[in-house]
Amino acid sequence: MKASEAAQRFDVVSWGARGTLPSTGEDFNLHGGATCCVELRLDDRIVVLDAGSGIVDLGQNLVRRDPCSVDLLISHAHLDHVIGLPFFEPLFRPDWQVTLWFAGVEGAPDSQALLDTFIRPPTLPFTSAEFTCQLALRQIPRNGQVEIDAPFQISTAPLNHPGGNTGLRIDHGGRSFAYCSDYEPDDGPSDATLRTFIAGADLAFLDSTYTPDERPAYRGFGHADWLTSCNIARSAGVGSLGLFHHAPQRQDAELLAIAKAAGATMPSHAVRQGDCVDLLTGGWPSGRERLRKAQDG
Ligand SMILES: [Zn+2]
Ligand SMILES: [Zn+2]
Repeated sequence: MKASEAAQRFDVVSWGARGTLPSTGEDFNLHGGATCCVELRLDDRIVVLDAGSGIVDLGQNLVRRDPCSVDLLISHAHLDHVIGLPFFEPLFRPDWQVTLWFAGVEGAPDSQALLDTFIRPPTLPFTSAEFTCQLALRQIPRNGQVEIDAPFQISTAPLNHPGGNTGLRIDHGGRSFAYCSDYEPDDGPSDATLRTFIAGADLAFLDSTYTPDERPAYRGFGHADWLTSCNIARSAGVGSLGLFHHAPQRQDAELLAIAKAAGATMPSHAVRQGDCVDLLTGGWPSGRERLRKAQDG
């Protein structure tokens, strides 16, 4: 039987949509303040993209479920994408299998180096030797197919970002989700690579750190504005866009206004912590359904 006939579940759950730094305070409650972490529920498998501060709550949630196995893919090693990793509860559970996938970057060429780089004194009082789970360390290509034994496919593409970033795309049951959290548009070859990579995706989470007015002051910082991401997604034939990697100072009122403006250009949402998108049978949830669905697992 083909994977497309067998697929039973393809949920995309946001546990953190903030970029750069976590945010706190009542002006951030609606969209949440945790940094990048997305859980994919693919039939009975759990795949997690990035280990920002959102992965801490996810870890607590996961250990209350059955699977005891998780594949964690790290897009790149910037702090907002790994800061929650040392506090991911399954790493400390002997009955859990954790497979850590990473493409490697300068200074951290593989998964072990990633762990050794910052999970150690003096930044933390322990090392990865304290992890009691069954830990497997694997490499993902910068541009190609991830060799994972699963009824879904994961592909990668290089993104234009300081130090490099890896775009991730998951195809399952004839549906697809693209995750390109940090990239800077170049109006050139890297935009073309991105467009090809996300082409036809049912859902894409793309960098929307800046407003169009802000971005000129931040050339070379490695991020996009929401309007450029809308244009790239629309021209790539993406079905629905999730504006992602919100600037830490971006308050809910601003994000609501951005989402409204973006919605005039293509189907889009400003991703909220707690969003659960059912790619096989449904779409974006609304209101209180968001967080409840995420917590239900
Ligand atoms: Zn980031
Ligand atoms: Zn980054």
